[in-house]
Amino acid sequence: MTSTLGTPVFSDSPARDLVCRGCGTHFPLAAQHACFECFGPLEVGYDAAALASVTREQIERGPKNIWRYAGLLPTGADPASRVTLNPGFTPLVRADALAATVGLRAPLYVKDDSANPTHSFKDRVVSVALTAARALGFERYACASTGNLANSVAAHAARVGAPSVVFIPFDLEQGKVVTTAVYGGDLVAVEGSYDDVNRLCSELTETDEFEKTAFVNVNVRPFYAEGSKTLGFEVAEQLGWRIPAQVVIPMASGELLTKIDKAFTELVETGLVEAPADGWKVFGAQSAGCNPIAVALHGDTDVITPVKPTGIAKSLNIGDPAAGIYALEAVRRTGGWMDYADDDEIRDAIRLLARTTGIFAETAGGVTVAVLQKLVDAGRLDPDAETVVFNTGEGLKTLDAVAEQVGPTYRVRPSLRAVREAGLLD
Ligand SMILES: *Cc1c(COP(=O)(O)O)cnc(C)c1O
Ligand SMILES: [Zn+2]
Repeated sequence: MTSTLGTPVFSDSPARDLVCRGCGTHFPLAAQHACFECFGPLEVGYDAAALASVTREQIERGPKNIWRYAGLLPTGADPASRVTLNPGFTPLVRADALAATVGLRAPLYVKDDSANPTHSFKDRVVSVALTAARALGFERYACASTGNLANSVAAHAARVGAPSVVFIPFDLEQGKVVTTAVYGGDLVAVEGSYDDVNRLCSELTETDEFEKTAFVNVNVRPFYAEGSKTLGFEVAEQLGWRIPAQVVIPMASGELLTKIDKAFTELVETGLVEAPADGWKVFGAQSAGCNPIAVALHGDTDVITPVKPTGIAKSLNIGDPAAGIYALEAVRRTGGWMDYADDDEIRDAIRLLARTTGIFAETAGGVTVAVLQKLVDAGRLDPDAETVVFNTGEGLKTLDAVAEQVGPTYRVRPSLRAVREAGLLD
């Protein structure tokens, strides 16, 4: 928890301090992630006046990536200070055919974060975390990962020529292992679950050997988490500076969900976006194999009982979700809901999304679209309110999920007659 490393050296960042999400105690900006008073998680606090000075025009003049929102992030304005693949500004795809299929009458959009440099939303959080980490004096980059974070940390480290060491559960999809290992850093397959990996990484941050190692989602987690806000900022800007009525978001630790909600709140507080008359509703999606946050909501409790994750949605398999109670709070406060989908529903939803939008999602995207359907069926989502669903990862990394369901629809010899006989010309 303590660090001999310095405070970040961004003179032009709007970040002011770190604030405990549990008891509200303030701490100076540093490589600290837990409260000394109550051990609660810390979040970046901002200078309200600095945030309020950011204008739409400034943002619109900025680069077509997350750094157009630099004035709303805990890092500085100097591009040379960044450890980044310049992710973001991914497509917001209008999905009329999907809307019709699931039973929505109002516009539906898919925010497609598979278009990021390493093909998941994790490039956003890693760019912000590692930029802060370098400014804090860290020299090696690391993470505990369910797959996509591993890809992104290894690629970011390679881009700036820094050493990396990435920890994953040993049973990840090959598509996530290869796309991490190829960047050449150390890749440690741990014989345990993600929650075991995370615990190990927390212990490693306390050792002298890892003193100069930034674990993006452990010892610099407050900075990491802020990167997720850019998904919320982008959606609002791409809708013409409006906040959608309903958003459906996949949950692993639950952090992404809380930060999209935080982004919308900040946009309203800074005056960049007008507060929608009816607010916005936040919906969370998990898989049946790892559903501790949704089960707590359904049981009307704040007690999140950790689970041992199973199932194909491995990128979401965090059995003891660090931001779970904050995700519950955001969903309850906004009047949203959560649900979960089993492996067959996830596979069907991957194919549904693909054939109605041309977007091939990884299993997490299947989870989100399957839950979208359930929320409409159960009457939780208003079919007449504008909705955005988030596809956070790329289908090519989890090919096995649907490999047995799809394939060639015909097989023919290379002759016109064979094609005719197969019925293709009918
Ligand atoms: C990490 C991840 C998420 C969600 O992450 P949180 O821990 O809830 O912030 C969602 N989708 C994909 C594909 C991911 O890799
Ligand atoms: Zn505290």
